[in-house]
Amino acid sequence: MNSSKKVLLYDTTLRDGNQDRKISLSLADKLQIARILDHYGFDYIEGGWPNPSNPTDEEFFQKIKEVKLKHAKIAAFGSTRRPKVLPEQDPLLQALVKSGAPVKTIFGKSWDLHVTEVIRTTLDENIAMIRSSINYLKQDENTKEVVYDAEHFFDGYKANSVYALLTLFAAQSGGADYIVLCDTNGGTMPWEIEAIVEKVKALIKTPLGIHVHNDSGLAVANSLYAVKAGCSMVQGVVNGYGERCGNANLTTIAADLFFKMNCNFETVRKLKNLRQLSGSIDQIVNLPSDVHAPYVGDAAFAHKGGAHIDGVMKVSRSFEHVDPHTVGNDRVFVTSDQAGGSLVVEKLKAIKPGIDKKDPVVGKLLKEIKERENAGWHFDSAEASFKLLVYRHLGMVQEPFKVLNYRVIEDKTPQGVSVSQATVKLQIGDKISHQVSEGDGPVNALDAALRKALLPFFPNMAKVRLDDFKVRVLGSNVASDATVRVWTTFGDEHGFWNMAGVSSNIIEACWMAFVDGLTYKILIDENVVKDAYKHLAFSSTAPKIVDSSSSKNDECTSENSSVYMLKLLKQDDGKFIEHVTNEVGNYFQMMKEDYDKEKKLIDQEKKLLLSSEREWYKLFDDKHSILKKNDIDINNIIKAFWIDYDKLLKV
Ligand SMILES: [Zn+2]
Repeated sequence: MNSSKKVLLYDTTLRDGNQDRKISLSLADKLQIARILDHYGFDYIEGGWPNPSNPTDEEFFQKIKEVKLKHAKIAAFGSTRRPKVLPEQDPLLQALVKSGAPVKTIFGKSWDLHVTEVIRTTLDENIAMIRSSINYLKQDENTKEVVYDAEHFFDGYKANSVYALLTLFAAQSGGADYIVLCDTNGGTMPWEIEAIVEKVKALIKTPLGIHVHNDSGLAVANSLYAVKAGCSMVQGVVNGYGERCGNANLTTIAADLFFKMNCNFETVRKLKNLRQLSGSIDQIVNLPSDVHAPYVGDAAFAHKGGAHIDGVMKVSRSFEHVDPHTVGNDRVFVTSDQAGGSLVVEKLKAIKPGIDKKDPVVGKLLKEIKERENAGWHFDSAEASFKLLVYRHLGMVQEPFKVLNYRVIEDKTPQGVSVSQATVKLQIGDKISHQVSEGDGPVNALDAALRKALLPFFPNMAKVRLDDFKVRVLGSNVASDATVRVWTTFGDEHGFWNMAGVSSNIIEACWMAFVDGLTYKILIDENVVKDAYKHLAFSSTAPKIVDSSSSKNDECTSENSSVYMLKLLKQDDGKFIEHVTNEVGNYFQMMKEDYDKEKKLIDQEKKLLLSSEREWYKLFDDKHSILKKNDIDINNIIKAFWIDYDKLLKV
């Protein structure tokens, strides 16, 4: 890798991608995407354009400060100052400074046409605007880097190369850390990009970047040519969303840079999950995935022609330019039922080592997965759904509860107020839990009633958050008869998991996702599910204490999450109490304080408390229920609790 070229990936999904007419990102969407991009190793994340008319973006820059990012730098986007205004009096530059983002990216004019005809100022004033704006931002104490986007640079260069270059010199002398050449209208050809970048590279010392649009269908090619000619930063958007024909597709570019151009960048480490990245972002922006997307699309490695299939089966590279597994995709033989699915088998092996592909159970499972995918399931973006399906199919889990009945009632009062009420009846062991809840809507009421019914039996339900919820109507001729896919993100203090539900009935699809999401949590707590979580970076409530010894491992597995808990306890008992912040936690604290008075707490107990956390909760829950039912003196309960607890310690 020594001879590889270092390139920085600058993602603008949250700003330029959000210009796509089909996309409208909420603050929560933006924060979630930012965490994902950071997890995948993007170097820069452009969060938006903070200004008084854009409150979501202003808030984003405040909220993102609370998120612990591992690698990415957050950039705020804006423009140079207006003509004839001092930078310190320019409201847009002030908003940029106020964002507190470590990287400030501003665009300015390089094309004389835009200077004289669009913003209508003099060519000299435009030069001064570029230099003074960058210089002003460089002096801001929070600013670590200023990136200058030379808007319309290639069109400007073709119209008046001397002036276009002068604008770049102004950016350089203003102190820009990066100068990014933009093909804003997307009409430049790859060979023009290459020739112009080479000329600029010979004159400008500041490192160069490229930012192109896809109006000629060449955004990926143009970005690669720019890198070839000397740019070391590529700006683009995951999956190529954007205004008009879209932005440069960073998903494709990342794979091309690595596989075809021997470039090195942080995201390389995650390329084997590229398809997962692409699918996750599609889910959050709520757009269908492009079947034909290079590297990551469903059809990217789908072979149909008989001769092609024959060739691939003999030598895969005879009809494949890269190995599909290197980007998290899989080979599909369209005309054959038994072929394909090798990636699924790999995943099965990770869940149940030693499983044999020839086992009839595996064949049935593969068939079921295929049928479900045809029905609208998308397991790449809902890994927890996949795991649960496998666990159930292979008989590896016992259902922690059984749904006896659920019902949702929608009511509208004469005053026009809508009220949703859900009733849920579950069987847990030999007990029945029957609960009613109201909610803002049927989905909310259903979620609340299900949790309420589970909580007395599974106290950890109180820790589960529903972080994201998206509904997609999958193609149909009759809208009301369409299949609906619900995609959810559940989270707790250790990370998150995605669950899907598919049905022609939207309530049923939601119900499936909720039941599976909470079942999954119970199985995590029971230590049945391995590698339960995606990444900690996704957790919106970052843990207060980070265990550095386990941070080498990227994935927060159920195993290292208990290590994490153990570490917390070892440092300070109080910290653990802080960790359990719900009602149950407070009650435990009450008991524990009492116990502490008797000075019985020894190191061994702490360890055991964790290894048997589940039993402990059960035990605790029993006492809690007794207390509630019989109103027994709390001291007796504490005593009973600790006697049982002591027994547990002796095991
Ligand atoms: Zn753009």
